[in-house]
Amino acid sequence: VAESSLLESLGNYDELSSHGEDIRFYLRDGFAGYSQELSVVTDQLDICASTNPSLQDRSAAQLFDAGLIVDTMMTGRRGESDSVTADGIPVKNFCYPIENASGETTGVLYVRADLSDVKALLAQSRLLFIQTTVIALLATVVIGFFLARSITAPINELTLTAKQVSQGDFSKPAPVRSNDEIGQLASMFNTMEEKLEASLAEISGEKNKLSTILQYMADGLIAVDLAGELIHANPAARKMLGVGESDLISDYTYESILGHLSPEMEFHRLLEGCREGGASATFAYGAITFAVRYDRFKDEEGQDVGIIIILQDITERQKLEDMQTDFVANVSHELKTPLTNIKSYTETLLDGAMEDPETCSKFLGIIDSEADRMNRLVRDLLQLSRLDHSQNRWNIKESNVIPLLEVCMTKMDMMAGQKHQQLNALFDRRSEIRVQIDRDRFEQVIINILSNAIKYTNEGGRIDVDAYAQSGQMKVIVQDTGIGIPAEQLPRIFERFYRVDKARSRAMGGTGLGLPISKQIVEELHGTIEADSVEGKGTKITITLPLAMRRGVPNIE
Ligand code: ADP
Repeated sequence: VAESSLLESLGNYDELSSHGEDIRFYLRDGFAGYSQELSVVTDQLDICASTNPSLQDRSAAQLFDAGLIVDTMMTGRRGESDSVTADGIPVKNFCYPIENASGETTGVLYVRADLSDVKALLAQSRLLFIQTTVIALLATVVIGFFLARSITAPINELTLTAKQVSQGDFSKPAPVRSNDEIGQLASMFNTMEEKLEASLAEISGEKNKLSTILQYMADGLIAVDLAGELIHANPAARKMLGVGESDLISDYTYESILGHLSPEMEFHRLLEGCREGGASATFAYGAITFAVRYDRFKDEEGQDVGIIIILQDITERQKLEDMQTDFVANVSHELKTPLTNIKSYTETLLDGAMEDPETCSKFLGIIDSEADRMNRLVRDLLQLSRLDHSQNRWNIKESNVIPLLEVCMTKMDMMAGQKHQQLNALFDRRSEIRVQIDRDRFEQVIINILSNAIKYTNEGGRIDVDAYAQSGQMKVIVQDTGIGIPAEQLPRIFERFYRVDKARSRAMGGTGLGLPISKQIVEELHGTIEADSVEGKGTKITITLPLAMRRGVPNIE
């Protein structure tokens, strides 16, 4: 404002240089206390007046920014610049054009503002700013550090716990230090950890249960995938199929262990069977009979994953069933034969044969012996059945077998005598061989064996009976010089109804049950009975029983 009124007053002069005195006076009056230095510069670049007397009448070109002045004069527009005086003081220069009434630029008003104070102030405030910034920064860093730590420390602890959990260590819960979001996260994590641990324990419990069941189940279990690769085989299956306990299951394929055993078990047949909702099969492989059931198993999404095959070794069961069927057939047959005979003889008698006393008594004799046979058969069957069902009361006592053998031999003496056979006792009659037996039953065994020896030995043959104790066991041996038993039939003579020569046995009054009954009795007494024979030479039957013990020592004298 001051400058513009000054400019207006200066514009009243057509020319400035000739009014230097007036202008100086005017400046001294009007701007004595003015903070900035004001100078009037003529178009000749002379300083015609100034608030700074030392500049009076000096050349503006040397003291001021000549370029700025010339520029202002030429363009008639206000300008400004920064410079430094000869004394080294930083100044701000403003240059305003002075125009007279006719619009010509007669000179310029040059204003210089001393910037050294401003600069100092600026420098001071810059320093202050920097200091404040640095302090603020430091404070931010420190606060930030602690703030970050207060957030990251619990997260780090949580991360560590998560890592331990991922390695299966559920022992340490994550610490909950606050009630904020992180604290809640930690406590949620702990809840999750507990649930996870509980589910894992449950799963592993189930898994253990399942693997124990698989381990100890008597049936074989095999799992295969849909490509026929084996996934699992339990110990029972390995045993049945000849896969070593420590062999890798991946070294085998389904076809190599099971598929080749029977056409029914080929893998494509299995897949077909599974399509119809599982199937079962029974097949024999060598001496073993297998019963197999199989069906597919699925994953969680209900997709077929593979096939589970359950294998049962039913050889024994099958054998037993066969034996039972055979037994019933045998019993019926054995009972039917005497019955048919009795029936036909009675019919013949009723038809008139009765009239002839000789024929009558002959036929009645036959009927009588057939009835005896049936009687024997039924008696033996009853005894077997009682032995089978352990219905008999056993009267087991410690007894000396020597007198028992003598009694049996006396009983059989007559039968042997009729066939002119020698019945020899090879044992020492004074010795004592004590065993735990039911006397009546053991006597029955000896009688059975002796009567067999007599039956199957021709006239004039000989039968030796020996008995001795050997390494804690008693042996009774009955050796005959009879017809013997063909080697291939020897293992079968202890089977029910098995007879080498049916006709001969029947003629001798045999039932085919004597040896099976004897074997059952001996086994019940914890002993064994064995037969050795040479066809045409003779047969040797050996009974072995454990000796009676007294104070842990075999009781013999
Ligand atoms: P059985 O009533 O027919 O004698 P067993 O069970 O006592 O029946 O004997 C079975 C078969 O064993 C007999 O039929 C006979 O063929 C044979 N056997 C038993 N003992 C002898 C023996 N000492 N010598 C020859 N064969 C025998």
